[in-house]
Amino acid sequence: MHNLKIELGNCVKVYAKNATCTKCEDICPHHAISYNENIPVVSDACTDCGGCIGVCPTEAISLKNFDTLDFIFSFLEGEESLISCKKNIPCLATLSVENLISLALLGDETILDLGHCASCEIQEPLYAQIQQNITEANLFLQNINSTKTIKTEMLGYKEPVEEKEPDRRQFLKRFSVKGAIKSKIEFEEALHEEQHAISIEDTQNIRKKEIPNKRKLLFMALKRAQTPVNYHTYMSDEISFTSQKNINDDCDNCSICYRICPTGALQSDRRQTKIDFDPLMCVKCSLCHDVCEPNAITLIPYSTKELFEPKVTELINFKVVRCDECANFFTYFGGEKTCPRCKIEEEEAKSLWGIQ
Ligand code: SF4
Ligand code: SF4
Repeated sequence: MHNLKIELGNCVKVYAKNATCTKCEDICPHHAISYNENIPVVSDACTDCGGCIGVCPTEAISLKNFDTLDFIFSFLEGEESLISCKKNIPCLATLSVENLISLALLGDETILDLGHCASCEIQEPLYAQIQQNITEANLFLQNINSTKTIKTEMLGYKEPVEEKEPDRRQFLKRFSVKGAIKSKIEFEEALHEEQHAISIEDTQNIRKKEIPNKRKLLFMALKRAQTPVNYHTYMSDEISFTSQKNINDDCDNCSICYRICPTGALQSDRRQTKIDFDPLMCVKCSLCHDVCEPNAITLIPYSTKELFEPKVTELINFKVVRCDECANFFTYFGGEKTCPRCKIEEEEAKSLWGIQ
């Protein structure tokens, strides 16, 4: 029985049927994740490697028996500098690019043990992702003029084996009444886990707009970093975890992008007169691009200045006027007297009565 948990209220696929994210499905070496009407479902083929945790932009996935944030804090508090899949983490792919940058900035030394990766039975496609994450994290550190890096070694760490006589008492403990009850509860929980249905809690989470912990940790880490003398500009496809955007005049202010953005990076005001964008909160989940019917949102080059001198940019603004029929405000593009909804109702009435 696996320990993987997907918070449906945080998964962008659950937000919109045209969400294109399939990162968790693509990375899973066992093909254990699939989508049932856009709802991610985990099969028993899952072995808890946690590779999907590292790639999920909204931190929708976690392991019940491993918390990435707890791991990072205990690693930083401890004396150790080595992170190995045979020592302290399910798989190095559990750590996202942001996690690696934070570890490097907050710790004295961070060494990833790649000694097991090449011979690992699930190296495909995890090893390539691990290498890609390390390269992106180190390039980012270099681009903010940090002297810190994520180091790698081919150590192949092995847990010291304690030669012990088989302990019959320990063995029997596992079959105690308490243990049997615990297993039964776990089994029943698994049976009743409603992985295919969206609960009220999930719906509330969708509305919540939350910044993932990995981004909060990155903010904390960057506060300790020196402000670079020069800022670096990335092409839009060179950075995986955030973005800078533009909205062109094809935008019809349908409001879906800023209503749906899971982190609140895109926002508007009460009368919907503009769309603001805060790159500091964007996790590059692509949802706003996926739902924009006129394809008005585009990615533009990203400057590291956004992280050190954050600013909210107004991407577009609109003139809003009151509708002559219902008196509600609507976006005015020129000449219209009624809002789109009243216009549709008017046209439906005309066709019903055969009026041209
Ligand atoms: S990676 Fe995360 S957001 Fe993307 S489909 Fe999987 S659970 Fe959903
Ligand atoms: S702005 Fe777009 S890409 Fe960024 S977090 Fe919001 S929906 Fe995702």
